[in-house]
Amino acid sequence: MSTTLPRIAIVIPCYNEEEALPITAPRILQLLDRMSADGLVALDSFVMCSNDGSRDRTWQTIERLHAEDPRIKGISLAHNRGHQYALMAGLMAVRDMCDAAISIDADLQDDPEAIIRMVEEFRRGKEIVYGVRSSRATDTWFKRTTAHAFYSLQHHMGLDTVYDHADYRLLSARALDLLSEYGESNLFLRGIIPQIGLDTAIVTYERHERVAGESKYPLGKMLSFSIDGITSFSSKPIRIIFIVGLILLLIDIAVAIWVFASYFSHRTISGWTSLIISIWFLGSLTLMAIGIVGEYVGKIYTEVKHRPRYAIRDRIL
Ligand code: UDP
Ligand code: MG
Repeated sequence: MSTTLPRIAIVIPCYNEEEALPITAPRILQLLDRMSADGLVALDSFVMCSNDGSRDRTWQTIERLHAEDPRIKGISLAHNRGHQYALMAGLMAVRDMCDAAISIDADLQDDPEAIIRMVEEFRRGKEIVYGVRSSRATDTWFKRTTAHAFYSLQHHMGLDTVYDHADYRLLSARALDLLSEYGESNLFLRGIIPQIGLDTAIVTYERHERVAGESKYPLGKMLSFSIDGITSFSSKPIRIIFIVGLILLLIDIAVAIWVFASYFSHRTISGWTSLIISIWFLGSLTLMAIGIVGEYVGKIYTEVKHRPRYAIRDRIL
């Protein structure tokens, strides 16, 4: 264990969280107070709220909370870029201000008490500590099933993610520095962070209901997030198209032999049903294939533009 206490930054991405933040921020501050009283973290540990272009009064709420306690800090993105970008902006903002950063959602669904165990792991020398939920009992059946389907799809597509870990994790200052080197525009932190390496640990926690407000992750956003995850890290889908094409070619050869045999034995080929079915089948397959290739072309398109991933409008430090 090091002799000086680590300065910890708690990074909270916030999109339309005016209802949740006034509950969440004091809860986190109380936790930090308790941890510094127990000699676990430095007194000047703080909270960084990353406002993701909210349409409600989230930024004013952050300003008010900062006036009450300057340990609440904030940055504000110029427009809504999504959870991953808000999180990345927050992490990069605290990179030079802390010994380790912990990211947690604004809705307190992830039990903040796990922060204590994360910091303990950090002080034992772990540089990345993943929060992994112990059960999904509080999720709706639909969210639970779709989430598990997405995880297993990602694994089969060769994406190395930690099962049932969302973006609740601790990153040491060194891990943050290494993370800053990943310049990709398509951000999928759950895929990037296992690639960083370093010593890691897992901490399990209970996931609760949202404290206030409603989910900012409807099915559409979740689906596109998962597709992004796969296509940002794996080119397996492209290979699958190739293999399907190869199998079809082999079937084609068998069909051709059969057609020739029928032709020479003077049997007539009946009806157009089979013809229509194969046209539809091949047509849909072609469209699907073009779609998948298009996903990658789209990715390349956004990467080569090298646009900034987010723009910061305001800071309260
Ligand atoms: N969030 C964000 N930008 C968005 C959507 C969500 O910064 O475009 C934040 C949100 O404020 C919350 C976290 O990401 O702190 C997770 O969102 P939410 O709780 O709505 O997702 P769920 O838990 O329902 O998947
Ligand atoms: Mg949530």
